[in-house]
Amino acid sequence: MRNKCICGGQWNRKHLSHLPDILQRLSPKLRRLWTSEHQKMSTNYSIIDFLLNHQEWELTHSILNHYRFVLQHKPMSSPDGLEIIV
Ligand SMILES: [Zn+2]
Repeated sequence: MRNKCICGGQWNRKHLSHLPDILQRLSPKLRRLWTSEHQKMSTNYSIIDFLLNHQEWELTHSILNHYRFVLQHKPMSSPDGLEIIV
């Protein structure tokens, strides 16, 4: 059984930005950049791709840890679903 995103959809990389508190971790400048880049790119362009493109290594690491925490503490979640983002 795969994880479900908090929006109710099947979990995959496209749902990364649906998790709470992610955009709040970005600086206002990064948030503006993310919004404009995300509109131009395909829907497969995740916020993690974005942060890696901008060499925000520490922020990426901290956000991935946050995802693991959120997904692991949701009911019905399975650790298998985390393979997608590691
Ligand atoms: Zn979602």
